[in-house]
Amino acid sequence: MAAFDIRVIGDPVLRQRAKEITDVDDKLVRLVSDMLDTMYAAPGIGLAAPQVGVNKRLFVWDIGEGPFAMINPEVRETDGEWVFEEGCLSVPGLSWEIMRPKTIHIVGRDLDGNEIEYEADELESRMFQHELDHLDGTLLIERLDDDTRKAALKTLRELQIGRPEKLATGGLTLP
Ligand code: ZN
Repeated sequence: MAAFDIRVIGDPVLRQRAKEITDVDDKLVRLVSDMLDTMYAAPGIGLAAPQVGVNKRLFVWDIGEGPFAMINPEVRETDGEWVFEEGCLSVPGLSWEIMRPKTIHIVGRDLDGNEIEYEADELESRMFQHELDHLDGTLLIERLDDDTRKAALKTLRELQIGRPEKLATGGLTLP
């Protein structure tokens, strides 16, 4: 059984900038374990803490070589362009072709406090960029162009997924 319910679009926690983590204690280690259970049960390849209602800069992932967790991630560099059909566990059942940088150099900490870094490409790079967005309160529909985003919000309303009407009237800020 999944440890958490995954928060869905319209939940305010998904729009907040998550806070830096200063201490890795037992509670945080348990949170990571519960997030991984939730991610695998979904199933998904990545999950950020705000998606389970926790306002901390942390995400977990497994694209086949994991599981891993990263705390307080920072982007060092991105490069190139890559279009990928991207979905999100917080916007269930839908996906859109989204252009983002192809590669990323990302740095953060593991649960032992050691610095970890990855030079990632394509799918792994996309996952990192997507989870980083969650920590900054950005959902993938904000990465769509205006027309596609309007159509996406209409689809979400029709399918009664989350509470997208709040987003539609709340004024989306494009990055
Ligand atoms: Zn997501």
